[in-house]
Amino acid sequence: MTPSSSELPSSAPKVFAIANQKGGVGKTTTAINLATALAAIGEKVLLIDLDPQGNASTGLGVGRSERSPGSYEFVLGLASLDDSIRATQIPGLAVMPADQSLAGAEIELIDMERREHRLADALTAPGNNARARWDTILIDCPPSLGLVTLNALVAVDAVLVPLQAEFLALEGIGAIRNTVDRVRRSLNARLHIAGVILTMVDRRMTLSQQVVADVRGHFGELVFGTTIPRNVRIAEAPSHGLPVLIYDNACAGAQAYILLASEFIHRRRTAAEAAQAGEAEPSETGPS
Ligand code: ADP
Ligand code: MG
Repeated sequence: MTPSSSELPSSAPKVFAIANQKGGVGKTTTAINLATALAAIGEKVLLIDLDPQGNASTGLGVGRSERSPGSYEFVLGLASLDDSIRATQIPGLAVMPADQSLAGAEIELIDMERREHRLADALTAPGNNARARWDTILIDCPPSLGLVTLNALVAVDAVLVPLQAEFLALEGIGAIRNTVDRVRRSLNARLHIAGVILTMVDRRMTLSQQVVADVRGHFGELVFGTTIPRNVRIAEAPSHGLPVLIYDNACAGAQAYILLASEFIHRRRTAAEAAQAGEAEPSETGPS
């Protein structure tokens, strides 16, 4: 165990899916930069890229020819955890890359035994023992609610939902909430939404501000106080294979992700302490 993980009660959530069935809402950007910021604070972090597009792998500088074995082989039990991960340029941050073969897993899984549990089983297998090795594991999900995302939801303690601060943002969160509720009832009793993260917030746009207010009104405490601004440096960073925190540490986007990481740590600690104090109820997923 690392010193940072031993400070947290064992009940503390550790494995998180970053999910929203909508594409382009900031899932991958949040996965990369939250993971980097947590590693910068001193945590040991694993980012699992579970999107066949492999954008998280690209954003962390893993070339197309270096992505196998990765999450596809790991989920199907064809490779060990150690063989499926790569070191990154960021000390303390490892990535399990994804490539196009993962798209086929959506179909290959259908006929497999324990098809929704493959990732969970692989992470907890004796030789892999992922929970003991990392303080935080983030899973970047594809923009769909198929079997691959289901595998993530069965493997994690909680979900982080990025929401783009734009018209119809609230509609977008309905499907992921229903899925989380369904998975909690049937496959993973501890699953809950740990937080909603507002992304691409434009301070100059009234609409964007209105959406932020609406989402807060609707989901209250579930929404992170930190919002991520629309920032061109965030969009530029992936083409350099770098997290924005490394690409331009001083920009508003990087600073927002640093604040998000400290809020994340604070919220996790508070939730763990509440659970230890006997209020073991998972946090609500918000009013219907
Ligand atoms: P998802 O993983 O949900 O599909 P991405 O994280 O890939 O979404 O983001 C979609 C696009 O928006 C990407 O081109 C990304 O660089 C850009 N982007 C994400 N967050 C921001 C932001 N805060 N400011 C500007 N561009 C952003
Ligand atoms: Mg993505």
